[in-house]
Amino acid sequence: MDSKKIAVIGAGPMGLAVAYQLIKDGYKPIIFEADDRIGGMTSSFDFSGLEIERYYHFHCTSDQAFFEILKELNLEDKLNWKNTKMGYFYKNRVQEWGNPIALLKFSGLSLIDKFRYGLHAFYSTKLKNWQQLEKYDAKSWIKKWIGEKAFEILWDKLLKLKFYGYSDNLSAPWIWSRIRRIGNSRYSIFAEKLGYLNGGSKTLLNKMAEFIKLNGGEILLNSRVKKIYVNNNSLGDLETESGIYRFDKIISTIPLPIISQIIHGLSEELQAKLSSKKNIAVVCGIVKLNKKLTNNFWLNINDENIDIPGIIEYSNLNPDVGNILYIPYYMPREESKFSDSDEIFINKIKRYFKIINSEIDDSDFIDIKINRYFYAQPICEPNYLNSLPDIEIAKNLFVADTSYYYPEDRGISESIDFGRKLAKNIKDV
Ligand SMILES: Cc1cc2nc3c(=O)[nH]c(=O)nc-3n(C[C@H](O)[C@H](O)[C@H](O)COP(=O)(O)OP(=O)(O)OC[C@H]3O[C@@H](n4cnc5c(N)ncnc54)[C@H](O)[C@@H]3O)c2cc1C
Repeated sequence: MDSKKIAVIGAGPMGLAVAYQLIKDGYKPIIFEADDRIGGMTSSFDFSGLEIERYYHFHCTSDQAFFEILKELNLEDKLNWKNTKMGYFYKNRVQEWGNPIALLKFSGLSLIDKFRYGLHAFYSTKLKNWQQLEKYDAKSWIKKWIGEKAFEILWDKLLKLKFYGYSDNLSAPWIWSRIRRIGNSRYSIFAEKLGYLNGGSKTLLNKMAEFIKLNGGEILLNSRVKKIYVNNNSLGDLETESGIYRFDKIISTIPLPIISQIIHGLSEELQAKLSSKKNIAVVCGIVKLNKKLTNNFWLNINDENIDIPGIIEYSNLNPDVGNILYIPYYMPREESKFSDSDEIFINKIKRYFKIINSEIDDSDFIDIKINRYFYAQPICEPNYLNSLPDIEIAKNLFVADTSYYYPEDRGISESIDFGRKLAKNIKDV
């Protein structure tokens, strides 16, 4: 047994995975978590008596690290797969989307555009050497493949309604990894295959937390880390509301924009690197409806009266929860509408549902809640990886968040995989 004192900051999937792996390697880490519960973006809340995630989560067939940890914790039988459908709300109607026949039938694109779109999707699922895409921004790369018109119809609004002023300078590899992940998660080219856990992410996270606590680790909730001091490039004290601590090593898994405000004593250059990293925030509605909105799990939207890029009808993946839908309004936190009241978002959601399905009226809305998260997604510009500071930002102080597994998009499996590898590596440092 190693006697080194190790702190982990954040009890989202990555922080839990770091601690889980450290325990397996003989350490007894202490996790500091600011929230009153574990889970971070995957945490659950009480939605009218139903304990459900604040934000939607699905799994793809490529989520290897996720399958591995489910197996280790005897949770494999909690994972279910479903043949899900995708739609596109365009030209005032829900059109089928996400397979070659749907593409051929889609109204609004020429045959050549459809062919180019299909080719791009196919190429993206086959490409392995993503580094060759680093020279492009996402917009130019997609346009090069599918042309101006198809880009305008299928991508432009999706990107603008998520990234706003940042949408012109996004990384092509980052977009590619998203296309590839969904594109490869299929039963066949005609049928999409997505997964969910019985009970949602908490089924796994609670088991990880239980393992950590049973084996000598600690999880301190309501314990926001306020400061970490670095002296002469070496780790100093860690400060929370309840005291000052000294550790041999600290591993932070909280978003870079937060950690950049917490660490004191870095060189100006490192501090500037950290502070330059930005995240997209999310205002996410969750709705319990009396009936289905559509038959799709994922509905992309391009409509001038609707200011969201998509709706996730979660119950079309996981039928155990009733008719539950998530409506994410991604946007930079500085957008003025981020501060709009919950009521404004709720009224918009009701209006949009009635546009999408004329059979919906006010009496169909059983409940709606709004959750907000400042750090929902890193904003990755071209050559993003090179712009990140080293993980060991000072001796014995390690920082990582979802941006460190670029070009992969943020994901539970990716955070778990990265967290476990990080823990394995730091024990040798
Ligand atoms: C709307 C939405 C939809 C998503 N959909 C999917 C999906 O379908 N499939 C999928 O695989 N993934 C999805 N994700 C991504 C997934 O939730 C994340 O990849 C994953 O939760 C990241 O885990 P993490 O531990 O790296 O970070 P986080 O979950 O961000 O965890 C960070 C933790 O640090 C804590 N913290 C912050 N500041 C401090 C501090 N000062 N001191 C102590 N603790 C602190 C936070 O409270 C939090 O618990 C989605 C995310 C969002 C927002």
